[in-house]
Amino acid sequence: MTHTPLTFPLSNSFANLPDDFYAQVHPTPLHNPVELIHFNHRSAELLDLEPAQYDPDELIAIFSGNQPLNDAANIAMRYAGHQFGHFVPQLGDGRAIMLGETTNQRGEKWEIQLKGSGMTPFSRMGDGRAVLRSTIREYLCSEAMFALGIATTRALCITGSEDKVYRERIETAAVLTRLAPSHVRFGSLEYFYYRDKHEQLKQLIDYVIEQHYPELAGADNPILALLDEVIKRTAKLIAQWQSVGFCHGVMNTDNMSILGLTLDYGPYGFLDGYNPRHICNHTDPHGRYAYDQQPQIALWNLACLAQTLLPFISEDAAKESLNRYWHLFNADYQQIMANKLGFEQFNETSTKLTDALLKLMQLSQTDFTRVFRALCNVESNSDQSDTRLRDMFVDREGFDHWLSDYRAALKQHARADAERQSEMKLVNPKYVLRNYLAQAAIEKAEQEKDYSEIDNLMQVLQKPFDEWPQFEHYAAQPPQWAGQIEVSCSS
Ligand code: AMP
Ligand code: MG
Repeated sequence: MTHTPLTFPLSNSFANLPDDFYAQVHPTPLHNPVELIHFNHRSAELLDLEPAQYDPDELIAIFSGNQPLNDAANIAMRYAGHQFGHFVPQLGDGRAIMLGETTNQRGEKWEIQLKGSGMTPFSRMGDGRAVLRSTIREYLCSEAMFALGIATTRALCITGSEDKVYRERIETAAVLTRLAPSHVRFGSLEYFYYRDKHEQLKQLIDYVIEQHYPELAGADNPILALLDEVIKRTAKLIAQWQSVGFCHGVMNTDNMSILGLTLDYGPYGFLDGYNPRHICNHTDPHGRYAYDQQPQIALWNLACLAQTLLPFISEDAAKESLNRYWHLFNADYQQIMANKLGFEQFNETSTKLTDALLKLMQLSQTDFTRVFRALCNVESNSDQSDTRLRDMFVDREGFDHWLSDYRAALKQHARADAERQSEMKLVNPKYVLRNYLAQAAIEKAEQEKDYSEIDNLMQVLQKPFDEWPQFEHYAAQPPQWAGQIEVSCSS
């Protein structure tokens, strides 16, 4: 069979910006043998890429950075950022190189980035590489988040090699092909603002509006409108994170997307037992980024973003925008939680029920995902307690009271149980990427070069609201050792 050479029509709009927005740098090849670890056909559709048409070796060579892509811009983006509350004036893509941006048949723009593709001028003390472990974690989770309906960067494939990478132990190098309409971060604007380069700052803002928020260009004050829109998207994003028990782990401003996407999957985690103080990153001892801190940290980060816009908007206007954050976040959060309980619209009752349930869950460290999924089976007319649910709580009488209040509230709604239950199953996932599940896939991949577990998880996580009888064990109560897994930034 003859294959067509792989090319993309690349527009490279970011690369058309002035030189100080990025550094041009070629990927450093991985050494042979380089193999394809996994390929995501769903993401391939975003690029109108039909992999069967191409020579598999060519796909591997291009997406490992070993063979140049036609017209690739090859750029590492420059940015700064507040890391754990402290400003770092120079960060940038230290291990990611953007090949370019392509537009698919639906008119959507996608930047293609190789993460782990070698050193760049921004690598600082790093080696420019990503380990297989961390690429698997990002690959699976970005797809899982997308399937949960949460805005995120996407991932096309993982390529890997035997090249050694030194972390806490010796690991092997891999490259993740990441896709996003834009990888611009809050920190990209901070870079120019703190250098007093207001002309470049304005150019970057104009670029973001023109390319990604064209509908704002006609607003009275497009820059203020941009701030409002980023606040709105970020509030929604964090409300969604909270509603599935997702902890990002490193909410530095350089990991906050200007498009409101979940960006940079490092030491993230999903809650198992409900502990609002849960810290998923073991290099965050004070819990700056603990689960329950995420909403207010997002606001802190948005204030950093607003700061960078002050050369162009008034301080009062920026403050007014930021002051709307809590209202937006609470409205989104309470609405999603009401839906999770089977109510169409949030009101005082649904909010009280949510709060009371979370208190009971906290007391028992009830599994976050399992309890909401189990609630989908509650029958409003029964006066029996549901033993499966009841057994998840230490305070069983407390739960009985809650259940009776819950049923009373459900009865006020003229909705049939069956309809409500099936709708609840569309917002309460049965499957999330628990750390221990990712860990099992990683160990099989590392030790046996067996990628079947990545495959299984990918399949299930792409439809996390469905029943998967053959993968029921992925929805089981996590084992004791799951709580011992430690994840940190060093990946
Ligand atoms: P992160 O904590 O992954 O968001 O990364 C923070 C900064 O460190 C970013 O500028 C990254 O590009 C950079 N970085 C992280 N890991 C590496 C690495 N292995 N080599 C070079 N730069 C890195
Ligand atoms: Mg980052």
